[in-house]
Amino acid sequence: MPAASVSTAGHVEADRPELAAIRETMLIDGKPVREGLGAPIAVHDPATGQVIAHQPDAGPVQIDLAVQAARRAFDFGPWRDLLPAGRERLLLKLADLVEQHGNELARLETLNNGKLLGVAQGLEVGAGAQWLRYMAGWATKITGDTLSLSIPFPPGVRYSAQTLPQAVGVVGAIIPWNFPLLMAIWKIAPALAAGCTVVLKPAEETPLTALRLAELVLEAGFPPGVVNVVTGRGETAGAALVAHPDVDKIAFTGSTEVGKLIGRAAMDDMKRVSLELGGKSPVIVLDDCDVDRAVQGAAAAIFFNQGQVCTAGSRLYVQKGLYAKVVQGLADLAAGMKLGSGFDSATQIGPLVSARHQKRVMDYIGIGRAEGGRVLAGGGVGQGEGYFVQPTVFAELRPDARIVREEIFGPVVVAQPFDTLDDALRLANDSTFGLGASLWSNDLARVHSLIPRISAGTVWVNTHNMLDPNMPFGGFKQSGIGREHGRAVLDLYLEKKSVCIAY
Ligand code: NAD
Repeated sequence: MPAASVSTAGHVEADRPELAAIRETMLIDGKPVREGLGAPIAVHDPATGQVIAHQPDAGPVQIDLAVQAARRAFDFGPWRDLLPAGRERLLLKLADLVEQHGNELARLETLNNGKLLGVAQGLEVGAGAQWLRYMAGWATKITGDTLSLSIPFPPGVRYSAQTLPQAVGVVGAIIPWNFPLLMAIWKIAPALAAGCTVVLKPAEETPLTALRLAELVLEAGFPPGVVNVVTGRGETAGAALVAHPDVDKIAFTGSTEVGKLIGRAAMDDMKRVSLELGGKSPVIVLDDCDVDRAVQGAAAAIFFNQGQVCTAGSRLYVQKGLYAKVVQGLADLAAGMKLGSGFDSATQIGPLVSARHQKRVMDYIGIGRAEGGRVLAGGGVGQGEGYFVQPTVFAELRPDARIVREEIFGPVVVAQPFDTLDDALRLANDSTFGLGASLWSNDLARVHSLIPRISAGTVWVNTHNMLDPNMPFGGFKQSGIGREHGRAVLDLYLEKKSVCIAY
């Protein structure tokens, strides 16, 4: 198998607009804030390990400042009086600004997260702008119902009744590091369309694009305090945001482990809470599929974004007749993938986000070997200083092996054969997670018989990881509570008030 090589090219361009976009501050009430709890947090370039910024480590004092700014903006500011068409206009303007600053934002994302520049450009910036435009459209389409009542109480009185949807209030949004800009947009776009105000806490590893986005929010014309971005650690800044009594709703994307903590804490004062959590998504290849397409699809499902995707296709189930061919095809693809800097256009696998995460993924690979798994490709780190892990294919693991059951969040897939469709379903649904799943088949009858029986919030057929602003997204089982995108996401940011008038 060809050895994976690491290229460090790409960090030498003269034109580095992303460096000029690093501020080393938070943005609270429209103003930069540098003071934090203690020593600032070092932010790294995952491709080289070099420190690229120091961000404030917000404590309860800074979280309170940000929440109070969001509270004032929600309760008394000009934002409150803005008509829905005004919110739509501002979100459209923000989408334009994101595109105008697309090069700088995408490069900043690649520098901070390590991901391929093409992914940062196409998905985080390109699709991100589309998400903003889509949610802008909903701002003017929020409606309630007129209700007819049946209970005559007291007799003779008539009623007019309606439901009045209202913004839920101050939203505390907490996001992970895998798609930092897009995740920030997924939170603020629906919140702003609904009329809420936001305190956003990005992951400590990747705060830079969210902060730049918050500047563009101000430039678009949103009043100060409507969107505030605080940087800091989960257990301190994140926990203080969740506990703050003036926060009305927590919107969280991250691991199931932290999601459970947040869900419990939010219940203390009955905050609204939505949770987009982890996954262990199955890729199910039936023996009537287009084999080349399935092999390419299975590789993209797990190796896209270095496997740091909540819906990563990390469990591959192939029907027996095709198993050897598909798994060998996938292993060959994995072994030939080029590791390197996300700035190098030849790179296919960038670094993982942090040294800590690289160690976590390598520990899982060690656990997989110890559990008796056979490594068909990869299994090691890449060369160089960056946080690289080779794309790795495991086979011959029992269904109860830890690396079959636990989310690794890296470029590691486990393959297993199955016999009948019922066997495939049993294996695919044998998980505490239920975020995504893909089927690879050309037989409509088989596909339609399987779709309703798969426990997952999204089922793809002959594709994987395809998301759209109009397609609700979220998890079954321990993959979360609530649906983002589509009309469904507005319910997460609106309270429904019933109004009853006697006459
Ligand atoms: P994480 O749960 O460790 O951290 C996510 C965020 O929560 C970070 O901002 C972190 O600082 C914060 N946090 C950590 N502890 C906290 C606490 N006690 N209180 C409040 N906030 C706290 O997740 P991660 O490692 O950053 O991201 C990877 C995880 O995110 C994976 O499990 C992945 O599946 C999940 N994810 C889910 C989706 C989805 O839409 N379902 C999308 C992307 C990522």
